[in-house]
Amino acid sequence: MKPFCRDTWVEVDLNAIRANVEAFRRHIPAATGIMAVVKADGYGHGAVHVGQEALSSGADSLAVAMLDEAVVLREAGITAPVLVLGYTPVESVAIASRWGIELTASHAEWVEQAEAELTRAGAQPIGIHIKTDTGMGRLGVRDADELLQVVEALEHSPHLNWTGIFTHFACADEEDTSHARAQHERFQALLSALRTAGKTLPRVHCCNTAAAMVFPEWGYDTIRLGIGLYGLYPSPYLKQQAVLQLTPALSLKTRIAHVKTAAEAMTVSYGATYTAKPGETIATLPIGYADGFSRLLSNRGAVLHAGSRAPIVGRVCMDQIMVKIQSETAQVGDEVVLYGRQGMEEISLDEVAGLVGTINYEIPCMLNYRIPRVYR
Ligand code: PLP
Repeated sequence: MKPFCRDTWVEVDLNAIRANVEAFRRHIPAATGIMAVVKADGYGHGAVHVGQEALSSGADSLAVAMLDEAVVLREAGITAPVLVLGYTPVESVAIASRWGIELTASHAEWVEQAEAELTRAGAQPIGIHIKTDTGMGRLGVRDADELLQVVEALEHSPHLNWTGIFTHFACADEEDTSHARAQHERFQALLSALRTAGKTLPRVHCCNTAAAMVFPEWGYDTIRLGIGLYGLYPSPYLKQQAVLQLTPALSLKTRIAHVKTAAEAMTVSYGATYTAKPGETIATLPIGYADGFSRLLSNRGAVLHAGSRAPIVGRVCMDQIMVKIQSETAQVGDEVVLYGRQGMEEISLDEVAGLVGTINYEIPCMLNYRIPRVYR
């Protein structure tokens, strides 16, 4: 029996996740590990399933943006190292300790407060990665003095073990590599300052998908593989370069809920922005903007039915859309592909992102809890 009633679902191909991890494994140095980034519920694909598949395919750790996401992984029984990349409020550090989750620190004061909180809670020590800001302007220490202050605060903290140091690139997906190179030089200078101060470096990492593609030699101890894990390229430029062959893992599918052929001119959806001509066949599909299917696709996007493109006509509603279909034999219950492949046709997340005016990352992240995920 189906575990859900609605006729709209996301299909995640776990073999694609495996193939993508293996493609990066072949591309980066043998000594460099793979940290699979499964924040935002695995970029909308499902963090637990993707995380487990990535770990069984060659990744050795996972990363998320916030502690709640890390706890979900532990509750599902994942025991591999998990790093929280973002800021964690000090009040929550004992939860990280309880679940054996590593946190990120950007400030000496946070380290001191976290130490006090773990002491107060009688908690076990936790691992801490230091975030350095070499040009992203988001989180992280910005110079060697600040960095040494954090390192020294960690050395004075019995409950916080220094286990990693990292930075994040702002422009590694662009054709012009000058910003990424400048960031890497700043990162190297910070690492040198630590060595000069007699510190032994813990796990070092800086590469996201784009940097791992372009500069695999900057892999250090691990890459942080996000978008590439899901078979998507970090930018149109890197897609065109195709240094690596990636396999998209996500499809979005539905089934026709209603079909009609216009007997006379017939307006479609709110605002009556589309008028079907006599003889046009219009199908109604049970998906809408409340699922994370953007209203910006009104009168612009298309879906796949019977191996052909069927344009979205009229405005995307909260729970339904209408499409103009070619096939005269269309029936209620026919499978329709909103994102992904059908026959020889494909609607890629890149295409949808272009229509909506965003990046491919955002498209699967928008698909929310209303849509069940199916794994194969
Ligand atoms: N590392 C950090 C700190 C991030 O914020 C992200 C995602 O935004 C990643 C790694 C993964 O990046 P990507 O999905 O481009 O591989």
